[in-house]
Amino acid sequence: MKKENPPEISAPVLRRRLLDWYDRSKRDLPWRRTRDPYAILVSELMLQQTQVKTALPYYEKFMGLFPDAAALARAPLERVFAAWAGLGYYRRARFLHEAARAVEAAGSFPRSLEGIRDLPGVGEYTAAAVGSIALGLRAAVVDGNVIRVLCRLAALRGDPTRAPLKDRIRGLAGGLLDPSRPGDFNQAMMELGATVCSPAAPACLICPVRGLCRARAGGSQDTLPELPARRESVAVEKSVALLTRLRAGRRQVLMAPRTGSGRAGDEGRMVGFWHFPEAPRRSPHPVAALALSCLKNGKVEDRGAFGPVRHTVLHFRITLEARWFEVQGGEARAPWSFQDLEKAGGLPLASAEKRLLKGLRGLAGGEAGPESAGGSADPLGGAGRAVAQGRGRGRGAGKGRRAGA
Ligand code: SF4
Repeated sequence: MKKENPPEISAPVLRRRLLDWYDRSKRDLPWRRTRDPYAILVSELMLQQTQVKTALPYYEKFMGLFPDAAALARAPLERVFAAWAGLGYYRRARFLHEAARAVEAAGSFPRSLEGIRDLPGVGEYTAAAVGSIALGLRAAVVDGNVIRVLCRLAALRGDPTRAPLKDRIRGLAGGLLDPSRPGDFNQAMMELGATVCSPAAPACLICPVRGLCRARAGGSQDTLPELPARRESVAVEKSVALLTRLRAGRRQVLMAPRTGSGRAGDEGRMVGFWHFPEAPRRSPHPVAALALSCLKNGKVEDRGAFGPVRHTVLHFRITLEARWFEVQGGEARAPWSFQDLEKAGGLPLASAEKRLLKGLRGLAGGEAGPESAGGSADPLGGAGRAVAQGRGRGRGAGKGRRAGA
């Protein structure tokens, strides 16, 4: 059966159908119950690279701790990182903190698109989202969801991440924007992309704008947009040394804050976060030498393998293989320092370090800390078993290996 082309997209018809659907079907989300630009900015930065259901509890917690720009501006960055820990892409937390300080310095949140764009970490997309939703500014949002919806609605071929199609999409989004409800229209477009016009298998049968959609009319909805191939992922393997010692009956662990040359995949993003000694796995020096390099005049006893912990940052697949060492004598060499094992969970930690710390607490006799609550029973995915064997062998045979003097 021959399919008929729908007419050109009529902006008034699209606006009406889309907004009627949005008013009926939108998800009830906490950032949709406010027009506070600060709250909208928090939600927008959290939602970059993060799904709604993941961001929700973080948003509630963050707004509870820092209900306005003044509260966030006053807070030390370490506290902000701690509230953000687990969301990833920590540069967003740093920018948010800087933006709050800029707002406080200016005396109020900017009221123009240019002013919002001048805030740290705010680009074209975030400025349009915050400006339209919180302040009713007529700026069209163009994110991945909107690009997908528009490429399908208008049956646009080509790479939408590059000119000239990129510019055409921006023009189309601006032309379709409802001038009387720009914030709702932007959210409706993003909601449609997130819940109906999904990347795989768009639900055209229930789509409120299906009668206007050229891709659906031509049967090309599954082949649009024509995005470039994803970047190949890169495997990164690291050795980690977990050094513990007993002081006055309390277990301590050796850590230091990152200073800028962080691990592969997130250099510059993790400054201020605490970590354990680590080195590339193919390093010619064994992990015991890494452990000793962090000490002045100490000895270490190898307590066994610990890990692996796997996680992904951007396109890097990172595997951390750790060994646990008990330190005897000596002191930490700067910038390393011994932190109370029970309290280390209160430091800014990325999720991989949290998992290592949690496993170490269980194995080294520390008590569960705040991040343990509600965690999985086996945070290292089998690492606990590996360590238990390593420690059992060492102690049972009385052969805890001394790695050096
Ligand atoms: S009809 Fe299908 S392809 Fe077109 S906008 Fe709706 S869900 Fe997307």
